[in-house]
Parts: sequence; structure tokens; C-alpha cells
Amino acid sequence: MKGLLIFLGLTMAALARPARDLPVLCYHQVAEPRMGDDMIIGPETFEAHLRYLQEQGYHSVTLKQAQQFLWGRGDLPGRSVLITFDDGYDGVYREAMPLLRKYKQRAVVFLVVGHIGDRRAATPHLDLKQLKEMRDSGLFEFGSHTYDLHVLIPERLAARRIFPSQILADLKKSRSELKRLLNVDVQALAWPYSHYSRACTQLAARAGFRCQFTTDYGRNRPFQGSARIRRIRVSANSNDVTTLEWKLQHPELSNRP
Ligand SMILES: [Zn+2]
Repeated sequence: MKGLLIFLGLTMAALARPARDLPVLCYHQVAEPRMGDDMIIGPETFEAHLRYLQEQGYHSVTLKQAQQFLWGRGDLPGRSVLITFDDGYDGVYREAMPLLRKYKQRAVVFLVVGHIGDRRAATPHLDLKQLKEMRDSGLFEFGSHTYDLHVLIPERLAARRIFPSQILADLKKSRSELKRLLNVDVQALAWPYSHYSRACTQLAARAGFRCQFTTDYGRNRPFQGSARIRRIRVSANSNDVTTLEWKLQHPELSNRP
């Protein structure tokens, strides 16, 4: 009993303190797992993560709150987290949305804007009707994951051949299309496969992106700015709650995929 009281006391003390850092979780698809697809985690696993976050007193923040924190302009509650999804797959609507509602958490979806409504791929993308419902639910914010350069940017960077005007035009188009389709002013970008360069981040800033997310691991702290936000990737190979807990507690060491 005494041990429990000490534990509760320590937990309450941790929650009362302002956050020293902000972990950002990076998911892709929530659906029945498929052999060989590392990007998919099952709905039960995602629910176990949300249950863990709720039990531990984690509170998912908005992009605006995250930005203010990273600029050193605002505190966050002691256990804060930003939940993100890359690519815009339909499992975020079908599976993740009801669970986010149930556990009172929120998330950001980074959309490959030119693929909205694309049902041809093995993993279908969200369509406009789903996105509007998600927007209106108040559970989601949206960001760009490029308009159509999701695969090309990593290839070009690998070949050291980037075309600045093409990247700038693509990033601008992703913002303007999201404004046209969903009437949202998107200022957050996630770099595809975390491939980016200094030139790329400068182009994105010119295109109006004030928060740029990578999948570089590590802590996000006040005053670091929001040009290279680190994330903790959650994949099919490392998705149990114990691993999530370890990653949240040791983000600077968490270089496991
Ligand atoms: Zn992606």
C-alpha cells in the first residue's frame, strides 16, 4: 500500500511539472497486419498504445501547442505527446479514428495530397469524404507529405540531384490543394522517408511550412525550433507496449526501427 502511494505521488508530481521534452510518435497504417509490410500495425496494438498513453496520463497536443513549445513560447503538461500518421491510408479513418475518440486523443495526418482517393494501391488512401469527416470530428489536423514527390524526393537526394523549382512547386501545390479541398491552412510537412537536406528545409520554409517533421530519433526540446522535429517511429516489428514505453522514456537512445 505504501509503495502504491509513493508510486502515485511520483506520478502525480511528474504530471504536475511542465514537459521537458515532446515525443512525437510516427505511425502509418492501422489495419490487419500483412506479412512483409512493416508499416501496418493492428487495431488491437494501436488500442493498446492508446490505453497505455491514457493510463500514464499522456495528453496529445495540437500542432500549434507543439510549435509554441519548440519555439520556447509555451509550456506543455508534464506528459505530452504528438501522434502522427504518414501517407494518409484509409485505416486511419476506419480503425484509428474510433479509437482516438474512445481514448480522448488526437492526431495529425500527413497526406500525399496527389494520392487522396487513390484506391488502386494495395493500401488504399483516404478519400475526400473520409477526410472531411475526420476534419469535422475535431480529432485530426492535417499536414503535407508532398503533393506527388513522395518517392521522387528520396531518389533525387540519393542521387544528389534535386530540382529546387520542382520541389518548391510541389510543396506549394500540396498546401494550395489542401486549402481548396478541405479549407485547411496547412503549415506542417513530414519529409518522405525522412529524406531531406538543408536546401529542402529552406524550400519548405519558402513554401510556408513552419513545422517540418523527420523520422530522426531523439528528444524535442524548447528552443530547438520546428524545422527538424524528431519522431519515434512505430512499425510492425517493434510495436508492443513495452517497446513503446521504452522509446518514450529513452527517445535519445531509441534508434531502433
Ligand atoms: Zn511516407
